[in-house]
Amino acid sequence: GKYTKQDIIRMVEDEDVEFIRLQFVDICGTLKNMAVTISQLDKVLNNQCTFDGAAVIGFKDTCNGEFFLSPDLDTFAIFPWRPQQGKVARLICDILNEDGTPFEGDSRYALKRVVKEAEEMGYSLDVGPECEFFLFDVDQNGNPTIQSSEKGGYFDVGPLDLGENVRREMVLFLEDMGFEIISSYHSNEVAQHEIDFKNGDALSTADNVMTFKMVVRTAAKRHGYHATFMPKPKYGMNGSGMHLTMKLYKDGKNIFTDSSKDNKVSEEAYSFIAGIMNHIEGMTLINNPIVNSYKRLVPGYNAPVSVTWSEKNRDSLIRVCSTGMEGTRVELRSPDAASNPYLVIAVCLAAGLEGIKNQMKLGEGMESGNEHVKALPTSLEAAIRAFEADPFIQQVLGKHIAEKYVETKKEEWNEYCKHVSDWEVEQYLYRI
Ligand code: GLU
Ligand code: MG
Repeated sequence: GKYTKQDIIRMVEDEDVEFIRLQFVDICGTLKNMAVTISQLDKVLNNQCTFDGAAVIGFKDTCNGEFFLSPDLDTFAIFPWRPQQGKVARLICDILNEDGTPFEGDSRYALKRVVKEAEEMGYSLDVGPECEFFLFDVDQNGNPTIQSSEKGGYFDVGPLDLGENVRREMVLFLEDMGFEIISSYHSNEVAQHEIDFKNGDALSTADNVMTFKMVVRTAAKRHGYHATFMPKPKYGMNGSGMHLTMKLYKDGKNIFTDSSKDNKVSEEAYSFIAGIMNHIEGMTLINNPIVNSYKRLVPGYNAPVSVTWSEKNRDSLIRVCSTGMEGTRVELRSPDAASNPYLVIAVCLAAGLEGIKNQMKLGEGMESGNEHVKALPTSLEAAIRAFEADPFIQQVLGKHIAEKYVETKKEEWNEYCKHVSDWEVEQYLYRI
Protein backbone atom coordinates (compact mmCIF):
# COMPACT_ATOMS: atom_id res chain seq x y z
CA GLY A 1 0.00 0.00 0.00
CA LYS A 2 0.81 3.68 -0.36
CA TYR A 3 0.16 4.70 3.27
CA THR A 4 0.79 3.07 6.64
CA LYS A 5 -1.16 3.78 9.82
CA GLN A 6 1.75 6.00 10.88
CA ASP A 7 1.42 8.00 7.64
CA ILE A 8 -2.27 8.58 8.31
CA ILE A 9 -1.59 9.74 11.89
CA ARG A 10 1.11 12.10 10.62
CA MET A 11 -1.04 13.52 7.80
CA VAL A 12 -3.97 14.04 10.14
CA GLU A 13 -1.69 16.07 12.45
CA ASP A 14 0.18 17.98 9.75
CA GLU A 15 -2.97 18.89 7.88
CA ASP A 16 -5.04 19.77 10.96
CA VAL A 17 -7.75 17.23 10.14
CA GLU A 18 -10.64 17.31 12.61
CA PHE A 19 -13.21 14.98 11.00
CA ILE A 20 -12.90 11.70 9.17
CA ARG A 21 -15.66 10.43 6.92
CA LEU A 22 -15.74 6.68 6.67
CA GLN A 23 -17.25 5.91 3.27
CA PHE A 24 -18.75 2.79 1.72
CA VAL A 25 -21.50 1.97 -0.79
CA ASP A 26 -24.80 0.15 -0.59
CA ILE A 27 -25.50 -2.57 -3.19
CA CYS A 28 -26.99 -0.01 -5.58
CA GLY A 29 -23.77 2.02 -5.48
CA THR A 30 -25.05 4.89 -3.38
CA LEU A 31 -22.30 6.52 -1.37
CA LYS A 32 -22.76 6.29 2.40
CA ASN A 33 -20.65 7.72 5.13
CA MET A 34 -20.23 7.97 8.84
CA ALA A 35 -18.29 10.89 10.28
CA VAL A 36 -16.06 10.60 13.34
CA THR A 37 -13.77 13.13 14.97
CA ILE A 38 -10.09 12.43 15.18
CA SER A 39 -10.48 11.54 18.83
CA GLN A 40 -11.60 8.21 17.33
CA LEU A 41 -8.58 7.82 15.05
CA ASP A 42 -7.24 4.81 16.93
CA LYS A 43 -10.55 3.03 16.60
CA VAL A 44 -10.72 3.94 12.90
CA LEU A 45 -7.27 2.56 12.19
CA ASN A 46 -7.97 -0.67 14.08
CA ASN A 47 -11.20 -1.51 12.24
CA GLN A 48 -13.25 -0.88 15.35
CA CYS A 49 -15.84 1.53 13.96
CA THR A 50 -19.23 -0.10 13.57
CA PHE A 51 -22.50 0.77 11.93
CA ASP A 52 -25.97 -0.71 11.87
CA GLY A 53 -26.53 -2.53 8.57
CA ALA A 54 -30.30 -2.53 8.93
CA ALA A 55 -30.46 0.99 7.58
CA VAL A 56 -28.57 0.28 4.33
CA ILE A 57 -30.16 -1.00 1.11
CA GLY A 58 -29.17 -4.58 0.46
CA PHE A 59 -27.46 -5.06 3.82
CA LYS A 60 -30.46 -5.72 6.02
CA ASP A 61 -31.92 -9.13 6.91
CA THR A 62 -28.58 -10.66 7.64
CA CYS A 63 -28.47 -12.29 11.05
CA ASN A 64 -25.68 -9.97 12.18
CA GLY A 65 -26.96 -6.41 12.19
CA GLU A 66 -23.64 -4.84 13.05
CA PHE A 67 -20.79 -4.34 10.63
CA PHE A 68 -17.22 -3.16 11.05
CA LEU A 69 -15.53 -0.62 8.81
CA SER A 70 -12.03 -1.42 7.66
CA PRO A 71 -10.55 1.67 6.03
CA ASP A 72 -8.39 1.33 2.94
CA LEU A 73 -5.56 3.63 4.00
CA ASP A 74 -4.55 4.39 0.42
CA THR A 75 -7.87 6.18 -0.12
CA PHE A 76 -7.05 8.91 2.40
CA ALA A 77 -7.98 12.27 0.89
CA ILE A 78 -8.93 15.70 2.21
CA PHE A 79 -12.10 17.47 1.02
CA PRO A 80 -10.76 20.69 -0.51
CA TRP A 81 -14.14 22.45 -0.31
CA ARG A 82 -14.49 22.08 3.47
CA PRO A 83 -12.97 24.54 5.99
CA GLN A 84 -9.20 24.54 5.85
CA GLN A 85 -8.85 24.64 9.62
CA GLY A 86 -10.18 21.51 11.24
CA LYS A 87 -10.22 19.83 7.84
CA VAL A 88 -12.42 16.95 6.72
CA ALA A 89 -10.75 13.83 5.33
CA ARG A 90 -12.25 10.64 4.07
CA LEU A 91 -11.29 6.98 3.97
CA ILE A 92 -13.08 4.45 1.77
CA CYS A 93 -13.80 1.32 3.75
CA ASP A 94 -14.24 -2.40 3.32
CA ILE A 95 -17.05 -3.90 5.34
CA LEU A 96 -16.39 -6.75 7.75
CA ASN A 97 -18.62 -9.09 9.72
CA GLU A 98 -18.32 -9.26 13.49
CA ASP A 99 -15.89 -12.15 13.17
CA GLY A 100 -13.60 -10.09 10.90
CA THR A 101 -14.46 -11.89 7.66
CA PRO A 102 -15.47 -9.81 4.61
CA PHE A 103 -19.19 -9.07 4.34
CA GLU A 104 -20.73 -10.70 1.25
CA GLY A 105 -22.91 -7.67 0.61
CA ASP A 106 -19.90 -5.37 0.19
CA SER A 107 -19.55 -4.38 -3.48
CA ARG A 108 -15.88 -3.64 -3.02
CA TYR A 109 -15.36 -7.20 -1.88
CA ALA A 110 -17.20 -8.53 -4.95
CA LEU A 111 -14.83 -6.56 -7.19
CA LYS A 112 -11.76 -7.64 -5.20
CA ARG A 113 -12.67 -11.29 -5.76
CA VAL A 114 -12.70 -10.85 -9.55
CA VAL A 115 -9.48 -8.82 -9.48
CA LYS A 116 -7.85 -11.66 -7.56
CA GLU A 117 -9.07 -14.21 -10.07
CA ALA A 118 -7.56 -12.08 -12.86
CA GLU A 119 -4.29 -11.88 -10.94
CA GLU A 120 -4.21 -15.64 -10.64
CA MET A 121 -4.39 -15.80 -14.44
CA GLY A 122 -1.56 -13.23 -14.57
CA TYR A 123 -3.78 -10.35 -15.68
CA SER A 124 -4.54 -6.91 -14.35
CA LEU A 125 -7.26 -4.67 -15.71
CA ASP A 126 -6.65 -1.05 -16.55
CA VAL A 127 -9.94 0.80 -16.80
CA GLY A 128 -11.06 4.37 -17.36
CA PRO A 129 -14.62 5.72 -17.16
CA GLU A 130 -16.11 8.56 -19.20
CA CYS A 131 -18.88 10.06 -17.11
CA GLU A 132 -21.30 12.50 -18.69
CA PHE A 133 -23.63 14.68 -16.64
CA PHE A 134 -26.00 17.62 -16.97
CA LEU A 135 -25.72 20.90 -15.11
CA PHE A 136 -29.22 22.23 -14.63
CA ASP A 137 -30.52 25.44 -13.14
CA VAL A 138 -32.00 25.54 -9.66
CA ASP A 139 -35.34 27.32 -9.15
CA GLN A 140 -36.07 30.15 -6.67
CA ASN A 141 -36.84 27.65 -3.94
CA GLY A 142 -33.52 25.92 -4.45
CA ASN A 143 -35.02 22.85 -6.11
CA PRO A 144 -33.33 21.31 -9.14
CA THR A 145 -35.01 21.76 -12.53
CA ILE A 146 -34.29 20.14 -15.89
CA GLN A 147 -33.77 23.54 -17.47
CA SER A 148 -30.62 25.42 -18.29
CA SER A 149 -30.11 28.93 -19.53
CA GLU A 150 -26.99 27.98 -21.46
CA LYS A 151 -26.78 27.28 -25.18
CA GLY A 152 -23.54 25.35 -25.53
CA GLY A 153 -22.86 22.25 -27.63
CA TYR A 154 -20.00 19.82 -28.25
CA PHE A 155 -16.64 21.38 -27.28
CA ASP A 156 -18.10 24.92 -27.16
CA VAL A 157 -16.38 27.65 -25.16
CA GLY A 158 -17.73 30.54 -23.05
CA PRO A 159 -19.93 32.57 -23.05
CA LEU A 160 -21.97 29.81 -24.73
CA ASP A 161 -20.53 27.33 -22.29
CA LEU A 162 -21.76 28.54 -18.88
CA GLY A 163 -20.21 25.49 -17.31
CA GLU A 164 -16.63 26.73 -17.69
CA ASN A 165 -16.23 28.03 -14.15
CA VAL A 166 -17.98 25.12 -12.51
CA ARG A 167 -16.00 22.60 -14.50
CA ARG A 168 -12.84 24.47 -13.56
CA GLU A 169 -13.65 24.11 -9.87
CA MET A 170 -14.56 20.45 -10.31
CA VAL A 171 -11.24 19.78 -11.98
CA LEU A 172 -9.27 21.68 -9.31
CA PHE A 173 -11.04 19.87 -6.46
CA LEU A 174 -10.46 16.52 -8.13
CA GLU A 175 -6.78 17.30 -8.65
CA ASP A 176 -6.48 18.30 -5.00
CA MET A 177 -7.85 14.88 -4.13
CA GLY A 178 -5.22 13.15 -6.24
CA PHE A 179 -7.01 12.75 -9.57
CA GLU A 180 -5.24 13.22 -12.86
CA ILE A 181 -7.74 14.85 -15.23
CA ILE A 182 -7.29 14.06 -18.90
CA SER A 183 -9.83 16.47 -20.30
CA SER A 184 -13.03 18.29 -19.49
CA TYR A 185 -15.40 19.68 -22.05
CA HIS A 186 -18.90 20.56 -23.03
CA SER A 187 -20.65 17.45 -24.37
CA ASN A 188 -23.38 16.99 -27.04
CA GLU A 189 -26.34 18.71 -25.52
CA VAL A 190 -27.10 22.04 -23.92
CA ALA A 191 -25.88 21.83 -20.30
CA GLN A 192 -24.23 18.43 -20.82
CA HIS A 193 -20.62 17.97 -19.78
CA GLU A 194 -17.95 15.34 -19.57
CA ILE A 195 -14.82 15.14 -17.46
CA ASP A 196 -12.46 12.26 -18.12
CA PHE A 197 -9.94 11.19 -15.52
CA LYS A 198 -6.97 8.91 -15.88
CA ASN A 199 -7.53 5.21 -16.10
CA GLY A 200 -6.21 2.97 -13.35
CA ASP A 201 -6.60 -0.43 -11.76
CA ALA A 202 -10.09 -1.85 -11.22
CA LEU A 203 -10.51 -1.02 -7.53
CA SER A 204 -9.13 2.52 -7.58
CA THR A 205 -11.19 3.34 -10.65
CA ALA A 206 -14.40 2.19 -8.97
CA ASP A 207 -13.44 4.23 -5.87
CA ASN A 208 -12.68 7.17 -8.15
CA VAL A 209 -16.09 7.06 -9.82
CA MET A 210 -17.71 7.37 -6.38
CA THR A 211 -15.47 10.31 -5.46
CA PHE A 212 -15.95 11.89 -8.87
CA LYS A 213 -19.73 11.96 -8.60
CA MET A 214 -19.56 13.44 -5.12
CA VAL A 215 -17.16 16.19 -6.21
CA VAL A 216 -19.15 17.07 -9.33
CA ARG A 217 -22.37 17.39 -7.33
CA THR A 218 -20.67 19.40 -4.62
CA ALA A 219 -19.00 21.87 -6.99
CA ALA A 220 -22.21 22.32 -8.98
CA LYS A 221 -24.11 23.15 -5.83
CA ARG A 222 -21.56 25.75 -4.80
CA HIS A 223 -22.14 27.50 -8.12
CA GLY A 224 -25.93 27.36 -7.86
CA TYR A 225 -26.39 24.49 -10.32
CA HIS A 226 -27.67 20.97 -9.96
CA ALA A 227 -25.46 18.24 -11.43
CA THR A 228 -27.20 15.03 -12.40
CA PHE A 229 -25.92 11.70 -13.69
CA MET A 230 -29.48 10.59 -14.48
CA PRO A 231 -29.12 8.55 -17.69
CA LYS A 232 -31.85 10.31 -19.66
CA PRO A 233 -33.09 13.49 -18.03
CA LYS A 234 -34.81 14.89 -21.14
CA TYR A 235 -36.86 13.49 -23.98
CA GLY A 236 -35.40 14.06 -27.44
CA MET A 237 -31.86 14.68 -26.23
CA ASN A 238 -28.74 12.58 -25.77
CA GLY A 239 -28.55 10.87 -22.44
CA SER A 240 -25.53 10.57 -20.17
CA GLY A 241 -23.40 7.48 -20.31
CA MET A 242 -20.48 6.09 -18.40
CA HIS A 243 -18.42 4.44 -21.13
CA LEU A 244 -15.70 2.17 -19.81
CA THR A 245 -12.40 1.83 -21.63
CA MET A 246 -10.41 -1.24 -20.79
CA LYS A 247 -6.97 -2.69 -21.35
CA LEU A 248 -5.65 -5.92 -19.93
CA TYR A 249 -2.05 -6.17 -18.79
CA LYS A 250 0.15 -9.23 -18.47
CA ASP A 251 3.79 -8.88 -17.42
CA GLY A 252 3.53 -5.12 -17.84
CA LYS A 253 2.29 -5.39 -21.44
CA ASN A 254 -1.13 -4.48 -22.83
CA ILE A 255 -2.23 -7.81 -24.29
CA PHE A 256 -5.00 -6.22 -26.36
CA THR A 257 -2.24 -5.03 -28.68
CA ASP A 258 -0.66 -7.42 -31.15
CA SER A 259 2.08 -5.67 -33.12
CA SER A 260 2.16 -8.42 -35.72
CA LYS A 261 -1.40 -7.64 -36.85
CA ASP A 262 -2.25 -4.87 -39.31
CA ASN A 263 -4.82 -3.29 -37.01
CA LYS A 264 -2.71 -4.22 -33.93
CA VAL A 265 -5.70 -5.89 -32.27
CA SER A 266 -4.87 -9.18 -30.53
CA GLU A 267 -6.90 -12.42 -30.42
CA GLU A 268 -7.20 -11.92 -26.65
CA ALA A 269 -8.90 -8.58 -27.23
CA TYR A 270 -11.45 -10.24 -29.50
CA SER A 271 -12.01 -13.05 -27.01
CA PHE A 272 -12.45 -10.52 -24.19
CA ILE A 273 -15.09 -8.73 -26.29
CA ALA A 274 -16.77 -12.02 -27.15
CA GLY A 275 -16.93 -12.87 -23.44
CA ILE A 276 -18.63 -9.57 -22.64
CA MET A 277 -21.04 -9.92 -25.55
CA ASN A 278 -21.91 -13.41 -24.39
CA HIS A 279 -23.07 -12.12 -20.99
CA ILE A 280 -24.14 -8.60 -21.84
CA GLU A 281 -27.86 -9.26 -21.47
CA GLY A 282 -27.39 -10.68 -17.97
CA MET A 283 -25.02 -7.82 -17.09
CA THR A 284 -27.37 -5.09 -18.25
CA LEU A 285 -29.22 -4.95 -14.92
CA ILE A 286 -25.88 -4.00 -13.36
CA ASN A 287 -24.74 -1.61 -16.11
CA ASN A 288 -28.13 0.06 -16.51
CA PRO A 289 -29.81 -0.32 -13.17
CA ILE A 290 -32.77 2.05 -13.11
CA VAL A 291 -36.07 2.49 -14.98
CA ASN A 292 -34.69 5.63 -16.61
CA SER A 293 -31.58 3.82 -17.92
CA TYR A 294 -33.72 2.25 -20.64
CA LYS A 295 -34.92 5.61 -21.93
CA ARG A 296 -31.30 6.27 -22.86
CA LEU A 297 -30.79 2.95 -24.67
CA VAL A 298 -32.93 3.90 -27.68
CA PRO A 299 -31.92 4.46 -31.32
CA GLY A 300 -30.63 7.82 -32.47
CA TYR A 301 -28.65 9.16 -29.51
CA ASN A 302 -25.21 7.49 -29.73
CA ALA A 303 -26.22 5.00 -27.09
CA PRO A 304 -26.21 1.30 -27.94
CA VAL A 305 -29.40 -0.71 -28.51
CA SER A 306 -28.02 -3.99 -29.80
CA VAL A 307 -25.19 -6.38 -29.07
CA THR A 308 -22.68 -5.22 -31.66
CA TRP A 309 -19.02 -4.31 -31.85
CA SER A 310 -17.19 -2.02 -34.21
CA GLU A 311 -13.91 -0.25 -34.85
CA LYS A 312 -15.57 3.07 -35.58
CA ASN A 313 -19.28 3.24 -35.06
CA ARG A 314 -20.39 5.24 -32.01
CA ASP A 315 -23.73 3.48 -31.91
CA SER A 316 -22.21 0.07 -31.27
CA LEU A 317 -22.15 -1.56 -27.87
CA ILE A 318 -18.41 -2.14 -27.97
CA ARG A 319 -15.80 -0.17 -29.80
CA VAL A 320 -12.22 -1.20 -30.37
CA CYS A 321 -10.19 2.01 -30.07
CA SER A 322 -6.66 3.03 -31.10
CA THR A 323 -6.51 0.29 -33.65
CA GLY A 324 -3.32 0.41 -35.68
CA MET A 325 -1.40 1.78 -32.69
CA GLU A 326 0.09 0.15 -29.62
CA GLY A 327 -2.55 1.22 -27.14
CA THR A 328 -5.50 -0.96 -28.25
CA ARG A 329 -8.45 -0.37 -25.93
CA VAL A 330 -11.88 -1.91 -25.67
CA GLU A 331 -14.68 0.57 -24.97
CA LEU A 332 -17.97 -0.67 -23.53
CA ARG A 333 -20.58 2.00 -24.26
CA SER A 334 -23.71 0.79 -22.50
CA PRO A 335 -23.08 1.52 -18.80
CA ASP A 336 -24.50 4.66 -17.24
CA ALA A 337 -23.47 6.46 -14.08
CA ALA A 338 -26.58 5.40 -12.16
CA SER A 339 -24.75 2.10 -11.76
CA ASN A 340 -22.65 0.71 -8.95
CA PRO A 341 -19.14 1.05 -10.47
CA TYR A 342 -17.70 -1.77 -8.32
CA LEU A 343 -20.25 -4.22 -9.67
CA VAL A 344 -20.04 -2.94 -13.26
CA ILE A 345 -16.28 -3.40 -13.37
CA ALA A 346 -16.57 -6.77 -11.62
CA VAL A 347 -18.99 -8.23 -14.17
CA CYS A 348 -17.16 -6.75 -17.18
CA LEU A 349 -13.82 -8.12 -16.08
CA ALA A 350 -15.26 -11.53 -15.18
CA ALA A 351 -17.14 -11.88 -18.48
CA GLY A 352 -14.12 -10.73 -20.48
CA LEU A 353 -11.80 -13.16 -18.67
CA GLU A 354 -14.21 -15.98 -19.35
CA GLY A 355 -13.99 -15.11 -23.03
CA ILE A 356 -10.20 -15.34 -22.88
CA LYS A 357 -10.23 -18.57 -20.85
CA ASN A 358 -12.51 -20.23 -23.38
CA GLN A 359 -10.71 -18.61 -26.34
CA MET A 360 -14.06 -17.39 -27.57
CA LYS A 361 -14.28 -16.20 -31.15
CA LEU A 362 -15.96 -12.95 -32.01
CA GLY A 363 -18.61 -12.76 -34.71
CA GLU A 364 -18.58 -10.14 -37.44
CA GLY A 365 -18.50 -6.45 -36.62
CA MET A 366 -21.34 -4.00 -37.01
CA GLU A 367 -20.06 -2.89 -40.46
CA SER A 368 -20.69 -6.32 -41.93
CA GLY A 369 -24.42 -5.66 -41.89
CA ASN A 370 -25.01 -8.87 -39.94
CA GLU A 371 -28.74 -9.02 -39.37
CA HIS A 372 -28.76 -11.61 -36.64
CA VAL A 373 -27.75 -9.32 -33.83
CA LYS A 374 -29.32 -9.60 -30.40
CA ALA A 375 -31.03 -6.61 -28.83
CA LEU A 376 -30.07 -5.29 -25.41
CA PRO A 377 -32.85 -5.56 -22.81
CA THR A 378 -35.24 -2.68 -23.46
CA SER A 379 -36.65 -2.21 -19.97
CA LEU A 380 -35.72 -2.75 -16.36
CA GLU A 381 -38.11 -5.68 -16.34
CA ALA A 382 -36.43 -7.33 -19.33
CA ALA A 383 -33.04 -6.75 -17.70
CA ILE A 384 -34.22 -8.40 -14.48
CA ARG A 385 -35.33 -11.44 -16.47
CA ALA A 386 -32.02 -11.61 -18.35
CA PHE A 387 -30.11 -11.33 -15.07
CA GLU A 388 -32.13 -14.16 -13.55
CA ALA A 389 -31.31 -16.28 -16.60
CA ASP A 390 -27.55 -15.81 -16.20
CA PRO A 391 -26.08 -17.90 -13.36
CA PHE A 392 -22.55 -16.84 -14.26
CA ILE A 393 -23.20 -13.16 -13.58
CA GLN A 394 -25.05 -13.97 -10.37
CA GLN A 395 -22.16 -16.08 -9.18
CA VAL A 396 -19.69 -13.25 -9.93
CA LEU A 397 -21.66 -10.97 -7.61
CA GLY A 398 -22.16 -13.66 -5.01
CA LYS A 399 -25.43 -14.97 -3.64
CA HIS A 400 -26.04 -12.16 -1.17
CA ILE A 401 -25.67 -9.28 -3.63
CA ALA A 402 -27.39 -11.12 -6.50
CA GLU A 403 -30.48 -11.85 -4.40
CA LYS A 404 -30.76 -8.48 -2.71
CA TYR A 405 -30.11 -6.66 -5.93
CA VAL A 406 -32.89 -8.43 -7.84
CA GLU A 407 -35.25 -7.97 -4.92
CA THR A 408 -34.60 -4.22 -4.85
CA LYS A 409 -34.94 -3.89 -8.62
CA LYS A 410 -38.22 -5.81 -8.69
CA GLU A 411 -39.64 -3.43 -6.09
CA GLU A 412 -38.51 -0.50 -8.21
CA TRP A 413 -40.10 -1.94 -11.35
CA ASN A 414 -43.39 -2.70 -9.56
CA GLU A 415 -43.51 0.79 -8.17
CA TYR A 416 -42.92 2.27 -11.63
CA CYS A 417 -45.64 0.13 -13.20
CA LYS A 418 -48.22 1.59 -10.87
CA HIS A 419 -47.27 5.13 -11.69
CA VAL A 420 -49.27 7.21 -14.20
CA SER A 421 -46.92 9.41 -16.21
CA ASP A 422 -47.38 12.84 -17.79
CA TRP A 423 -47.06 11.19 -21.18
CA GLU A 424 -50.06 8.96 -20.52
CA VAL A 425 -52.20 11.82 -19.29
CA GLU A 426 -51.27 13.89 -22.34
CA GLN A 427 -51.96 11.04 -24.74
CA TYR A 428 -55.15 9.68 -23.26
CA LEU A 429 -56.95 12.15 -21.05
CA TYR A 430 -58.69 14.01 -23.88
CA ARG A 431 -58.89 11.28 -26.48
CA ILE A 432 -60.25 8.38 -24.51
N1 GLU B 1 -24.18 10.65 -24.71
C1 GLU B 1 -23.91 9.40 -25.39
C2 GLU B 1 -24.39 8.22 -24.54
O1 GLU B 1 -25.47 8.25 -24.10
C3 GLU B 1 -22.47 9.23 -25.76
C4 GLU B 1 -21.89 10.34 -26.59
C5 GLU B 1 -20.52 10.00 -27.10
O2 GLU B 1 -20.44 9.36 -28.15
O3 GLU B 1 -19.54 10.30 -26.42
O4 GLU B 1 -23.72 7.28 -24.31
MG1 MG C 1 -16.58 7.26 -25.17
